[in-house]
Order: sequence, then structure tokens, then C-alpha cells
Amino acid sequence: MKFISLLTTSLFLLFCSCSSLQPSARQVQSKTLIKMALNDQTGYKIIESLTTEIGPRLAGSAQEKRARSWAVAKMKRIGLQTVRVESFDVSHWERVSEDVHILSPNPQKLRATALGGSVGTNHSGVSAKVVSFKNFEALAKAPLKGLENTIVFVDEPMTRTKDGSGYGVAVVKRRRTTVEAAKRGAVAALIRSVGTDHHRFPHTGQTGYEKGVKKIPIAALSAPDADQLARSLKKGSVKIFLKIRVKSKGSLKSGNVIGEIPGQTDKFVVAGAHLDSWDLGTGAVDDGAGVGIVLGAAKTIVKQNLRPKHTIRIILFGSEEVGLVGAKAYAKKHKAELPKHIVASESDFGAGKIWKLDTRFSDSSLSEAKSLFKVLKPLGIKRGNNKAYGGPDLIPMRDLGVPVVTLKQNGWDYFDLHHTEDDTFDKIKPEDIAQNVAAYSAYLWMSSNTESDFRN
Ligand SMILES: [Zn+2]
Repeated sequence: MKFISLLTTSLFLLFCSCSSLQPSARQVQSKTLIKMALNDQTGYKIIESLTTEIGPRLAGSAQEKRARSWAVAKMKRIGLQTVRVESFDVSHWERVSEDVHILSPNPQKLRATALGGSVGTNHSGVSAKVVSFKNFEALAKAPLKGLENTIVFVDEPMTRTKDGSGYGVAVVKRRRTTVEAAKRGAVAALIRSVGTDHHRFPHTGQTGYEKGVKKIPIAALSAPDADQLARSLKKGSVKIFLKIRVKSKGSLKSGNVIGEIPGQTDKFVVAGAHLDSWDLGTGAVDDGAGVGIVLGAAKTIVKQNLRPKHTIRIILFGSEEVGLVGAKAYAKKHKAELPKHIVASESDFGAGKIWKLDTRFSDSSLSEAKSLFKVLKPLGIKRGNNKAYGGPDLIPMRDLGVPVVTLKQNGWDYFDLHHTEDDTFDKIKPEDIAQNVAAYSAYLWMSSNTESDFRN
């Protein structure tokens, strides 16, 4: 009897010491999910479906509305539950036409696109002398007098990086040039496109205005056209004609589309992407890819018939491009529930492979980051820092204390395509999307089965 009990105890101890070295159940299950995702094209097919069946999805447009119906149907087919649209209002804006050309001394057309939200010119357009600034900072520091009745041109290039770190500076140029130019009396503004390509595709993107400062029209020139204007300016004074026509239908409906894999607690883990896109391309890399990746990850989990501890919530945000309108609406509507959001991550940096894991957890939860990293490492992912950004649509909830993860994609080519006519499905590589889907399935499964709260 004693012998038997000793044997049982030793076997028990042996089992315990072995199991502490073994991966946890959620790590083993995550590995299975990764394997499945790497051999599956669900994410890729979802991107194909969205970009082909819907196409461009401008905030507040009829096409964004069709995209919401598409997303509801897709989520239901995948097997997500409590699928719904949470509506909010957005101010509608759309381009009608742009005409930018050099009037003198060497008349010729320039390839340009109006920035989102830009006011139009009057029917006859504007003609004025161009004054160039090497960057936005130079314009912001210029004297307040001396630019009356000119067209300001900010000729600031964007730096190509793997992590997209040049974009922050570029966005300041895109959003603030109108304000600084108008304060100095300019009648219109032009910028070198926010992009890294050398094609004749100008990049759009949201501009901004300031209360009390006159709203002037603004357009972006493609890189070769910005070069052409810069060369012309080196030879002497240049006069440009600019005519922009835009349309607004006022306040229209937009919405976030949400679907879930129900858990057994009242807590959530989130994976997001944005459903809207700019109007020029078909929104494949921005952000059809993100939609395919997070829906693909959800489908991988559902197919395994696994039930998470905490609810997995997939959010496809509306109206991201025009100022995170859907993200703000979500944070406002779910404010009381945000403390129950364990962690969130958004896929919105194109279609390249994930190469780095950043987290934003409390110091005492860093062991969670370590466990997640262990699972992701075989996908070629490195451990990054604990200052994760999370993604644009997560900013409002991150600011309210929700921990975030960034599964950082390689963005080396992202700004060649971003917000241009060239953002189309042919740029998507199925093997890169499969790697993203694999990483997101593992992230969702590991986080939705955690015992920790990443805040404390
Ligand atoms: Zn985006």
C-alpha cells in the first residue's frame, strides 16, 4: 500500500516536472493553427473577393455601404456570431475632377490628385505664381507676409523604411500645408505626394483645415511631376493653373462591422482592420489585406472547432481614412466595456510579411509577451519593444488604457502603392498573406486563452 502510494507520488512528481517544461495547451493549439493557416488561402481569397466584388470603398459612399453588407455576409459564412453593424455619421467628400498644368513658361499638364477633404476651386480655377519650400518646416517658419496670391508647393520627399517611420512626418505635410499656406495669403497649395515610388501615380490622403483660417484647395503631384516642377522652378518663375472640383453630400452613414467567436467570460481580445479605402485604387494593400488577414485568422480558429476562454472580437472599422471616425465611434460606444478588452491588434500596414512583435503590456505581464513570441518565432518574427503602436484604429482605445500588440509587417514597398491608383489586387502575394493569417490566429488564440490581465 505504502509502496503503491510512493510510486504514485513519484509518478505524479515526475509528470509535474516534465509538464512544466512542456508547452502549454494553448501553445500547442496555436502551433496547429499556424500550420493550418500556412497551408490555406482563405485570407488571400477574401482580399480577392472584397477588391473585385466591391472595389474602392470611400468613407460614407454607397460602395462602403455595400462593403458592410459584404462583410456581414462573409463573417456569417465564416461562422462568426453576433455579427452586426454599428452605425455612425461621417461627412461625405468625393473628388469630381482635377486639372493642374504649367501655364508658363513651358505649358504642360501635371499629374495631380486632390487630397481628401480639400475644398474645390471656383469654376474658372486659379492661376498663380508658384513658391516652393523644401519641406513643411520651412513653410511653417516662413514670414507671415510675402506669399499673397501665390500657389505654395512643398517639395518634401518621404524616406523609404521597413517600419514606415517616415510616414509620421509626411502626414504633417499632408494635413498642415493648407493651413500654413493660407495663413500667408496663398490661394492654393501643392505637395510632393506622400509616397516612395517613382511612378506617375499621385497619392491622395486626408488633408486638414483649421478653424479661423481660410480653406484653400490642395493637390498632390506624382513624384516625376514634382521633379518636373522643381526643375522648371530652377530655371525661373513658374505660373500654374489649378482647377479642382469636389462634391459633398453632407453627413452620411458609415459603420463598423463586428463579429465574434464567443468565449466563456465577459472579456474580449480584438483583431481589427479597416473596411473603407481611398477612391483611386481598389484598396487591396490598404486595407483589403488587413480585412483578409483578420477574417482569415478567425476562420482558421472556427474551423478547428475550438472555443476560447475569452471572446474573440473581429472589428472591421469604417471611415478610417478620413480621420479614424469609426475608431472614435467604437471607443465612445464601448467605453464602459473597454476595461474588459484584454488586448487589441490591427492589421493596417499592407500585405508584407510580419517580421517583428511589439507589445504594450504592463511589466508584470511581460511573460505573456514571451509566451506569444515563442509561438510566433518560427514564422521568422523577431521580438521588438514594449511600446507598441497597435494600429491607427486602436489609438482611441489605446489612449483609454487598452493594451495593444503590433504584428509589424515589412512596409518597404507599402508607400509605393498606398493611396494611389496602383493599390490593386495583383500586388498581393498569397504566401505573405498566409504568414500574416498564421501569426494573427496564434495571437488571437494565445491571448483569448490567457489567465492574465495585460494591464497589471
Ligand atoms: Zn489603412
